[in-house]
Amino acid sequence: MNCAFCKENNKLTKEHIIPESLINLFPECDYTYRRGKETKTFQAHPMIKDVCAVCNNEALSILDQYGLSMIEKYFYTNYVPDSEVEVVYSYNLLSRFLMKLCFNSDRSFKQNQEWFENNLSYILGKKDFTNYSFSVYAGLAINTSPLPNFFFENKQLEIVRGVRLLPQGMLRYADGMGHSVEIVKDIGEFDVPSIHDVYALRLGASQFLLILWKKEAEKREVKNYEKLIERIFPYVRFSEDEKMVKLTRCTHAFNYHHIEIIDSNLGMSIADSTNGFVSSPEESRKNVGEEAWFEHVKDLRER
Ligand SMILES: [Zn+2]
Repeated sequence: MNCAFCKENNKLTKEHIIPESLINLFPECDYTYRRGKETKTFQAHPMIKDVCAVCNNEALSILDQYGLSMIEKYFYTNYVPDSEVEVVYSYNLLSRFLMKLCFNSDRSFKQNQEWFENNLSYILGKKDFTNYSFSVYAGLAINTSPLPNFFFENKQLEIVRGVRLLPQGMLRYADGMGHSVEIVKDIGEFDVPSIHDVYALRLGASQFLLILWKKEAEKREVKNYEKLIERIFPYVRFSEDEKMVKLTRCTHAFNYHHIEIIDSNLGMSIADSTNGFVSSPEESRKNVGEEAWFEHVKDLRER
């Protein structure tokens, strides 16, 4: 078998699907990666053996180092709901890092992802442009739900393919007064024919969206949709021409534990107005177990 990245017939080595350095950053954590309806949770280090030592130790290791430094610097903490975080980035390294993670995850499910196959020279840093368009967005993942993280296996590292973008929100007011809300049954999804795939990546306190556009999608069409997505959803787009973004919260009480549900600004405002159906975190007794948990995490990470 040839290397999944450079396609050379080199000796193959084990490659971590999620970089080992990131896994080591969150010793308290079960991590999950999954695809569509299939869910896989791993307690060991999930690996694939289809990458050569040259790619692993050179091009890909540069991406891992970049991803680790970015997550350590900006997303290795628990933010309060109204936080704003200025993130300095390299568009090239960040996008290649995200692509590498998603491509790894896909291969571990034995899915042939034609988009990545056709853009490997970008991922490896041999070309500085992709053949097809892509977009990168992010927001802060902040737990405003009444349930602590450890209720849901504390998923700090998660890659999901096939997310649902909900422009009208997952909740709506059930009366004209805004006194009660209900979950929308036939939720309308954001349907853009030129989108090939959308991945969500939860990496610590960040939530990234990687949008892959179809081969035939025109640049102008992509640009228009990119702007629309930024208007409708609480995510900020990383631009090739910029070096810095200001991120704010992109999760609410009802989708924080479900990264595959991408809710809109409208959905956020309705969800926030319910306070997660409890009057305060104290009321939900969330802090009771959480304080002990945070102590435990601190202890583990300092070891
Ligand atoms: Zn290789």
